[in-house]
Amino acid sequence: MTQIGIDIDGIIADTDTAFRKRMGEVFKREFPRDMVREFHYENCFKFNRKEMDIFCNLFLDKELWKSIKLIKGARPTMASLKRKHSLIIITGRPIEVKDVTLEWLRVKKIPFDKLYFMQGRQKHEIARVNKHKFSLFLEDHPDYAYRMANDGVRVLLMDYPWNQRIKNHPNIQRVKNWKQINKILKDSRLL
Ligand SMILES: [Mg+2]
Repeated sequence: MTQIGIDIDGIIADTDTAFRKRMGEVFKREFPRDMVREFHYENCFKFNRKEMDIFCNLFLDKELWKSIKLIKGARPTMASLKRKHSLIIITGRPIEVKDVTLEWLRVKKIPFDKLYFMQGRQKHEIARVNKHKFSLFLEDHPDYAYRMANDGVRVLLMDYPWNQRIKNHPNIQRVKNWKQINKILKDSRLL
């Protein structure tokens, strides 16, 4: 059975929308997505010292993680993929949100075979250590995508403002949404 690697945030879960919405409610101003040009909000938006303390604790709220919505098209395509392939999720989420993540995946009926939390490791290292040979990896983080691609894995990179600066790589293909992922999977007979 072939293996397909999948990231959660930005691929299955629309985490950025939920986080920016919460920041808007707490700090009473706009946090537009097109300003999120890299992975750390604190480098994209200005926070004063007091706000920074609040900001650091914002993402510990389990209700916030529960409120994250699915990205359109993720579930049906993953359900189809699961019939033919092993689906391996590797997430950069902190281990503190492991329970809420498992519960979220269950509630949202996301099919998968294995789930790894990075815990300080790199995604490609987790793949190597656990001897996963991915036919494909779905990712939105530019560095993880690049390293996985350098290890010979074909990567579909979901297009976001925070991954625009990545260099071209023969193993990386940029995609806009799950509809496009679906088409590529069908064309390559993975679906
Ligand atoms: Mg991600």
